[in-house]
Amino acid sequence: MNLDRAKSAVIDHIDKSAAALWALSLDLHRHPEVGFKEKRACTKISRFLEERGFTVERGVANLPTAFRARRSANRAGEPTVSFLAEYDALPGLGHACGHNIIGPASAGAGAALASVVSPDAGGVIVFGTPAEEGGGGKVIMADNGIFRGVEATMMMHPAGETRAEVNFLALAELHFHFYGKASHASATPEQGINALDGVLATFNAISALRQHLPLGDRIHGIITEGGEAPNIVPAKAAAWFYARSDTAENLELLAKRVVDCARGAARSSGARLRVKRNPITYAPMRVNSAFAGLFRKNLEKLGVKEPNPLPPLAMGSSDVGNVSQETPTIHPQIQMVAPEVSAHTPAFAKAAGGPPGRKTLILGAKALAMTGLDILLDENARKRVKAEFRSGEPARKHSRAKRA
Ligand SMILES: [Zn+2]
Ligand SMILES: [Zn+2]
Repeated sequence: MNLDRAKSAVIDHIDKSAAALWALSLDLHRHPEVGFKEKRACTKISRFLEERGFTVERGVANLPTAFRARRSANRAGEPTVSFLAEYDALPGLGHACGHNIIGPASAGAGAALASVVSPDAGGVIVFGTPAEEGGGGKVIMADNGIFRGVEATMMMHPAGETRAEVNFLALAELHFHFYGKASHASATPEQGINALDGVLATFNAISALRQHLPLGDRIHGIITEGGEAPNIVPAKAAAWFYARSDTAENLELLAKRVVDCARGAARSSGARLRVKRNPITYAPMRVNSAFAGLFRKNLEKLGVKEPNPLPPLAMGSSDVGNVSQETPTIHPQIQMVAPEVSAHTPAFAKAAGGPPGRKTLILGAKALAMTGLDILLDENARKRVKAEFRSGEPARKHSRAKRA
C-alpha cells in the first residue's frame, strides 16, 4: 500500500470521527475518575473500540480498569503497533493533566489505523492504562508482560509546548517513619526522644547531599507528620520523599544515599526509624530518536513545527518509562496551552475541556495514526526504530565521569 495515500486515508478517517472522539473526551472531562477508579472511562473507550471492530479484554494484569483492545483481524507473528490510552484524573482538579485528550487520541488513532491497514500488513492494539497519576498502572502492566511482542507503542500528551522527543527520570518513593518518646517539652524534656528531630535531621542531611549529586538527580520531600503540640516532645514523625535519577542503576545508588541520610538522622536523634519504599519504581524513559523523528515529520505534514531551538526540558517521571524498557516507545507532547500554563492546574483542566483540547486531540490522533503507518508499512523505518532500541542505552544519558 502506498504510504502517502494511507496517511491521507487515516487523516480522513479521523476527521470523520472527530465529533465522536470529542464527545468521548468531553464525557471523560465531565466525569473525572481518579487512578484505578476509571470505570466509566474504561467502559466508554472500550465501547468506542468495539464498535470499530476491536475485541476488548478487560481487567488485564489483574487491574479492573486496564484493558487490551486488539483489532479483531490481528494475526499472530505480524508486526503490531500499539497506542496507550490514559484516562485517569487528579483528585480535586479533574482532568488537569488532560488525560481526557490522551485516551480518545489513542483510541481514535487505533481505529483509524485499523480501518486503513489490511490485516496482512500488521496488527493494531490499544492498551487501556489506568492510574498514571501516582498509581503506576503501566508499571504493573509491564511487570506482567502485557507489552511483550509489540513492535512499537506510542501516546501523546497535551502540554505547553510541542516536542516529539520526551525523556523521563526514574523515580523511587520513600517513606520514613521515626518513633521517639513523648514527654513534657518544658518540664521533662530530658525524658523525651524527639521523633521530629529525626525528620529534620533527614532534611538537613539530604540538603548537604544535594551539592554532591550528579546533574539531573532530584530529591524532594514533605513532612507528613510532625507532632501534636509544641508542649509535647513528638513521639512520632514522618516524611515522604521522591528520589529521581536518569538510569535505574543510578536511581538505586541515589535511593541508598537518601536512606542513609535518614539512618544517620535516626542515630543522632535517638529515634527509631522504619523505612517503607513503594514497590512501584518508575523506570527512566528509553528515548528512541528514530521513532520520535517519524512523529515529528508527521506533525510537520499536519502543519505543526516544533519550536527551534527547544528550551531545555524540565523532566518529571511517568510510568510510560517502564513500557519504554519493553518495546520502542514515544511520548511526544503537543501544545495545547501557553508555555506558562502548567499541567495540574485549573487553567489546564479548562483548556482540556474546550476548543484547545479538541484541536490537540484531533491533531494528536492524526499524528499517532500516521506514525503507526510508518512503523507498519515502511520496513526501513521499522528497522531503524528497532535498531536504536536494541542498541540499549538511553540516548541522553548523563555522564557520571569526573570533571574538572
Ligand atoms: Zn499529570
Ligand atoms: Zn499526564
